[in-house]
Amino acid sequence: MEEKMIVADLHTHTLVSNHAYNTITEMAQQAAKLGLSAIAITDHGVAMPDAPHPWYFGNITKEFPFVMEGIPVLRGVEANVLDIDGKMDFSNEELKAFDWVIASIHSPLLAPITRLQANRLWSNIAENPWVDLIGHSELPQYEYDYDELTKLFARNHKIVELNANSCVVRPSGTENMKRLAKACAKNGTPVAVNSDAHSIYRIAQVENIFKMLEEIDFPQELIVNSTNERLLTELKKHSHPTAEKLEGVLK
Ligand SMILES: [Zn+2]
Ligand SMILES: [Zn+2]
Repeated sequence: MEEKMIVADLHTHTLVSNHAYNTITEMAQQAAKLGLSAIAITDHGVAMPDAPHPWYFGNITKEFPFVMEGIPVLRGVEANVLDIDGKMDFSNEELKAFDWVIASIHSPLLAPITRLQANRLWSNIAENPWVDLIGHSELPQYEYDYDELTKLFARNHKIVELNANSCVVRPSGTENMKRLAKACAKNGTPVAVNSDAHSIYRIAQVENIFKMLEEIDFPQELIVNSTNERLLTELKKHSHPTAEKLEGVLK
């Protein structure tokens, strides 16, 4: 059963990112119906053309309770990496307010860069205490040293994302994703397998990634969202106090 592959989908969009289609409440309802323990709502940071107004992000942690429709909803963001110095479209103070922060490169916002520049970019992101997840980082035009950087990610408690939607919308990165996953396995770097769902129908649809992980004999214990316990253990090492919020409400 695919809904048993992951216990929490940590990358999803709602209709405030204009090319996604459901509300937060609908996403929470569907995640609960699928039997997930938690879901993260991670709409596009303000620099993307389809992003919500900045006020949306300022209000989200105030307006929504942590537990909605019977399951914990991490009020997150998919922030954009804007340059090789690791500048993002939110200040650190703003990133701190979220339960969960993904840092992603999106091609409309960053021209192709060299491998050395990409190494520098991810090293800088790895130093940011408020980044939890390195979003879909396998695109060939932003290729980096997977071996070196996954070591740094592991040291700094950054989780590497394996994004099921990438295989559909960014297929040119599929081979790189496999190499990235192998580097994570070698260096003990935690990964999260996410849907990047843009509608309720795609939540927790991650079987393509699990097929790839099976092929390379990827160690299950490095997949942080494969059990509640692994998720809590990993989040306790992160700067956001999200593990504390999850403890007691994670079923
Ligand atoms: Zn993205
Ligand atoms: Zn996304």
